[in-house]
Amino acid sequence: MTIEDCLNSDRERLIEESLERIKTIDPLIKSFITVAQEVALKEGPYKGIPIAVKDNITTKGLRTTCASKILENYIPPYDATCVKRLKDYGFAIVGKTNMDEFAMGSSTERSAFFTTRNPWNTQCVPGGSSGGSAAAVASGQVIAALGSDTGGSVRQPASFCGVVGFKPTYGLVSRYGLIAFASSLDQVGPITKSVRDAALIMDIIAGRDPFDSTTVRRKIDFLSQLEEDIAGMRFAIPEEVYEYEQLDEEVAQRFDEAIKLAEKLGAIVQRVRIPTMRFAVATYYVIAPAEASSNLARYDGVKYGLRVEENGLKGTYMKTRNIGFGEEVRRRIVLGTFTLSAAYYEAYFNKAQKVRMLLSKDVNQVLEKFDAILTPTSPVPAFKIGSVSDPLTYYLMDVFTVPANLVGIPAISIPFGFAHDLPVGLQIMGKRFEDAKVLRIARSFEKKSSYNENGRIPIPVVRI
Ligand code: GLN
Repeated sequence: MTIEDCLNSDRERLIEESLERIKTIDPLIKSFITVAQEVALKEGPYKGIPIAVKDNITTKGLRTTCASKILENYIPPYDATCVKRLKDYGFAIVGKTNMDEFAMGSSTERSAFFTTRNPWNTQCVPGGSSGGSAAAVASGQVIAALGSDTGGSVRQPASFCGVVGFKPTYGLVSRYGLIAFASSLDQVGPITKSVRDAALIMDIIAGRDPFDSTTVRRKIDFLSQLEEDIAGMRFAIPEEVYEYEQLDEEVAQRFDEAIKLAEKLGAIVQRVRIPTMRFAVATYYVIAPAEASSNLARYDGVKYGLRVEENGLKGTYMKTRNIGFGEEVRRRIVLGTFTLSAAYYEAYFNKAQKVRMLLSKDVNQVLEKFDAILTPTSPVPAFKIGSVSDPLTYYLMDVFTVPANLVGIPAISIPFGFAHDLPVGLQIMGKRFEDAKVLRIARSFEKKSSYNENGRIPIPVVRI
């Protein structure tokens, strides 16, 4: 069911139905860390429509853990701006979804609590880090959800679970109340059952916020051109996609079909080179941990969150952080502290910033001549839980998603068929602030994809 379907149904029943479905299905999927005890029916145009929020976005009075032991009992005294806006429109938050701890990961296996399962095959990961949100939407437990995307965490789980995931232009959605991972890359984005629903949510959550000075004052019309066609548009296909060694064959086939569909819809498709794309993952894994190491310094056992007493102040700091943070988070803090240290700053952090600039230049140059860049969202479909243990292999899977964060441009993942019986996502990236155009292109694909019935994306059969 989409938001639009809800508008024509009995609003009084929707929350109850969602809570019932959570009760029957979620023991199998495990998308929620916290389910709200009481969900009030609030007035507004979207009154009573049940949604979920990733557990790194603050919700007043509702526990927000970041899937970390260090925040296990944290109850925020305030709503994130995006949450507040959705509530003001009547949306009902039924729970907080599982994720990789502090959003560091691509599978939810890095949650301090448990791993979420993919509704299409419960042996597989749902992707991450917003895996709980994507799985909850795909399995029909909620109508839509919020996620956060620092290097792909909205788009990749959306692609693994066969739903829509949109990362807006950096600065469009307020980060106030989003627990910081890497502040120059983080954006909140919607995970939905349709492109129109993503546009509807963007229309509510986007906009200037005095509590986040990186938000811009810009009015974007997300909805009025959504149904317009894409004839005459120009799409770029980076050669680098095909040069990526781990590209799954069936994912590549779906991608080729998407290109053919684009041509059928009257678009002009051309191969391009974006040479610096090869360095995107390396650049991301210097910049993101560096910013994270600085952002996570606040969890010290003194101000809030977990506190484990040990000899003296330093002992307490160390013990708290050692017990409170999981392995991946500690790895990133060590990495970040190292690349920011006086001796290595020039060699790593500063170098990465320069490469980020070069990548931005390359990508923006392509977007001067083209309306969008197309790639698969992920080189592989969902993998088996526990099957990827080497951190480097794990990081490399982010190849296609991290460029959009480094450059700050909008990018969407929409379902485009299956590989090995698991969903595949098509990624569309556009120019900064051309979020509405990206959504419109996505809508054209959604409407005409032979994998969708009547322009609608299929729903998994969750076996209970
Ligand atoms: N997978 C990437 C990482 O581990 C991206 C995470 C994200 O977007 N939050 O950092």
